[in-house]
Amino acid sequence: MTKTLLRNGRIINNGEDYVGDILIVNGKIDCISNSPLTESLDTTIDCEGCIISPGLIDIHVHFREPSSGKHEETIETGILAAANGGYTTVCTMPNTTPAIDTPELVKSAINQADQFGKCCVLPTACATIGRKGETVTHIQELVSSGAIAITDDGDVVENDAMMSAVLAQCATSNVPFMQHCQNPKTTVGGVMNEGEVQRELGYGPWPRSAEESIISRDIRLNESIGAKWHAQHLSSGGSVDLIRQAQADGQPISGEASPHHLLLTDEACRDMGTMAKMNPPLRQEHDISLIKEGIEDGTITILATDHAPHPMSTKEKPFSEASFGIVGLDCALALYIKALIEDNVLDWPAMLAMMTCNPAALINRPNLGSLKVGGFADITIIDPNLSWTIDVDAFDSTAHNCPFDGWNVKGKAIATIYNGVFSHQVLCDRVHRCN
Ligand SMILES: [Zn+2]
Repeated sequence: MTKTLLRNGRIINNGEDYVGDILIVNGKIDCISNSPLTESLDTTIDCEGCIISPGLIDIHVHFREPSSGKHEETIETGILAAANGGYTTVCTMPNTTPAIDTPELVKSAINQADQFGKCCVLPTACATIGRKGETVTHIQELVSSGAIAITDDGDVVENDAMMSAVLAQCATSNVPFMQHCQNPKTTVGGVMNEGEVQRELGYGPWPRSAEESIISRDIRLNESIGAKWHAQHLSSGGSVDLIRQAQADGQPISGEASPHHLLLTDEACRDMGTMAKMNPPLRQEHDISLIKEGIEDGTITILATDHAPHPMSTKEKPFSEASFGIVGLDCALALYIKALIEDNVLDWPAMLAMMTCNPAALINRPNLGSLKVGGFADITIIDPNLSWTIDVDAFDSTAHNCPFDGWNVKGKAIATIYNGVFSHQVLCDRVHRCN
């Protein structure tokens, strides 16, 4: 029997916030107490000044396996990046090669992730075969084999009738649909936010309406269906109000933010070049304010990363040809602290709910995202006062496409515990072993 005590930490769990101890026995949470526990122990971790949170959940990552060519990331390196960033559960997107559109591919992704341990990997599966938007996949079978959500991420499901059919099957299978909100008719040649900076740089425009029109359409299509519908990586301020209205009308609609859309604007395309090329594109201060308002008032309930590894060779290209996206798992926590806590948008319990119990609820996994006696010990220990500098060379992700390289940030996961075992730790002198 192995016993580990997390001693004297600030336990933030599902809205509760108090100082206490957590005892882990054989991988499970044996006791949570707001008074000191005195057991005979193998290991004690001094958590004074630190936050003890349920393990972080990221519902939007790209691990690029299976892949036909050179891997920008593998499931294994993606898992290491997740553990390094404090995550114990991630949902992988199905835009791999081949795309995850059969039960066999779903099962294979789960088996592959299980080999490494260190993080729970829950794959999503395609809405349409090959993500081509032509034929709906067998959603019930994909869900039965372990798909946690349905999405063609990277592409929108464009056809209205197809979208309705997908939503109907998602509703029947009780699984969320995650939409990549991009009307392709309005983004032909588009590579950055439509506006002054874009006209000055001479790149193709990507209007806000590309995102907003899909949200409006899906809300309309879903009115009579009532599927759990989720907007990925929100970029436009106008999107927030559409979601707010649909929620007020009683629709089960949700949305996620990503760190880059809260910390950078289209000005970054001028200063950072292709490192600021995102899909959807970086917008403007006004959009950031509206997204933060949506986070503050509970319209947006989930913080994701859209961890998108690419080889540097695909970023070191002219802006219009470079790949979209950046990696996020290794540094997202600190970036959200900067965007939301340091800017007084949220307090710690509210922010951590958006990275733990809220995403768990969306993907119908109430056993994840909170600390429960008898439950698996998936725990993140955060030092909120640790100042550090983001360094892509220290990332566990194999990809280095990150515009935040060199940023000074505060707050870090100093330990990640998955199933009772440390998957990452930089605890220094906080560990005391008794034997
Ligand atoms: Zn996407």
